[in-house]
Amino acid sequence: MSDAAKTLSKIREVVVISGKGGTGKTSLAASFAYLAGQSAIADCDVDAANLHLVLRPKVRERHEFRCGHEAVIRDEDCIGCGECLKNCRFGAITVREQGEGQGGGGRFSVDPIACEGCGVCVHFCPVQAIDFPECLCGEWMVSDTRCGPMVHARLGVAAENSGKLVSLVRQKARQLAEERGLFLLIVDGPPGIGCPVIASVTGASLVIVVSEPTVSGEHDLERALVLTRHFAIPSLVCVNKWDLNPQMTERIEHKAQLAGAQIAGRIRYDFGVIKAQLEACTVVETETVAAQDICQIWQCVVNFKR
Ligand code: SF4
Ligand code: SF4
Repeated sequence: MSDAAKTLSKIREVVVISGKGGTGKTSLAASFAYLAGQSAIADCDVDAANLHLVLRPKVRERHEFRCGHEAVIRDEDCIGCGECLKNCRFGAITVREQGEGQGGGGRFSVDPIACEGCGVCVHFCPVQAIDFPECLCGEWMVSDTRCGPMVHARLGVAAENSGKLVSLVRQKARQLAEERGLFLLIVDGPPGIGCPVIASVTGASLVIVVSEPTVSGEHDLERALVLTRHFAIPSLVCVNKWDLNPQMTERIEHKAQLAGAQIAGRIRYDFGVIKAQLEACTVVETETVAAQDICQIWQCVVNFKR
């Protein structure tokens, strides 16, 4: 094994996820980054990234994120045969003008919103009059924060392939950890259990699932744990704002244990969390009861053994 591969294999990757947004996932991930001292950080919530609001990164590098393709008809080469219109199953090709093309047919346009980038029209165009460039879907950045280097991204409006961008952000953050000799990578994962979440947890050392004491919180947690179990990733669970519904908290913890997860702790409801957000600092930088609870959960993460 090369030295680089040995370092990569030693990097511990802790991913914070939740069944849905708004459970306090980012507050926890930001607090972990602060408590860790110096670690590599990845904001994989690329659809609604907000870790930067608390960690206030200084952007060092910006890179375009290109993914998928979009058909573009070159008017000057199109003979107006209508093959593209006939073969597009997504209704993305429209007749712009009737009967004025070089071949006696109309002029055609591609609706970039409706185009799925399948490439069928490109294949069937008899005169290769359709370009098929890659789409600009967003950007990813490498930044410095007071807690360590961070990789984060912004997905374009209505852009797809966030799973691919999540994988890219994680991969770059691991590279950064390796370059800086950091052995811990903290990942703020996306909400839900879809493709972006799978892209953020596969191969992780440990997943922390943040839940809340509600019926939907219970349901979302169950789904998240099915996912981590499927990929055989060790999981810790914590319930945020647990004191709003102690009975439900107990029920959630019981279900989490039955699903093979360990309980990392509980976080009390604390208005100071919002104050911390407004002041653009992590919860553990404030004198709050939630900060005390998060510090205990962090100890559980640090001491976790499979
Ligand atoms: S690439 Fe596919 S979806 Fe887009 S215009 Fe061509 S056939 Fe339609
Ligand atoms: S298939 Fe090609 S030549 Fe025919 S209308 Fe479409 S773009 Fe023009």
